[in-house]
Amino acid sequence: MMGQDDGVRSIIYGQKSIQYRLIYSARSSLEIAVLADATVIVKAPTGASISKIEQKISKRARWIIKQLNYFKQFSPRTPKRYYLNGETHLYLGRRYRLKSVQAHQDWVKLTRGYFLISCREQANPVATERLMKNWYAEKAALQFNASFDRCWPKFKQFSLDKPTLSIRRMQKRWGSLSPNGRLTLNANLVKTPRECIDYVVTHELCHLIYHNHCSGFYKLLETVIPSWEKVKHKLELSLI
Ligand SMILES: [Zn+2]
Repeated sequence: MMGQDDGVRSIIYGQKSIQYRLIYSARSSLEIAVLADATVIVKAPTGASISKIEQKISKRARWIIKQLNYFKQFSPRTPKRYYLNGETHLYLGRRYRLKSVQAHQDWVKLTRGYFLISCREQANPVATERLMKNWYAEKAALQFNASFDRCWPKFKQFSLDKPTLSIRRMQKRWGSLSPNGRLTLNANLVKTPRECIDYVVTHELCHLIYHNHCSGFYKLLETVIPSWEKVKHKLELSLI
């Protein structure tokens, strides 16, 4: 599941408590990263002691707090849409300006930076929203299946049962994996870049092997998508 925390530790710095996720790996030095969702990731050499690790985090605490404050300004992330001409809407990470017109047929298409909506009835926000939502649902099915086909071969070596794919509108999660092997993706994910869709699919597929966010989970994720932290960052900022 994305958005759930396992094995999170915290240290006190001045008046503040800094939560961080500790990952041990075969490396020689400590690395600290602050992600856009306010997750602090600390990668430490295998066997490093907690007191040593916390000493190093304390030394960087001012920087960590500065990063966390920076990301706070992006929340809440999705401005409300009213389905009025001129508004921008996203598809696969690109922005399109909405233009709704009355014509003989109902259709939706993307052309030269525009989200063109043709409405049989006089163009109005309710009809525009209905047409766009149907269009997004169709594209979500198409893009998510394509992403699944790109990501699944990387898990072939594990001889797993292929999960079934479902799409839902979810408030707080990009994706989830049920114990009976159903991979559910948030319909809004189709508004983000393809690499972000692949990242969420891959994250959930890693849960077929590791059910929680243990260090093995992150090692596997890093093997499949070495730049996953960058992509995750992009994803967090993608619906602004
Ligand atoms: Zn997860």
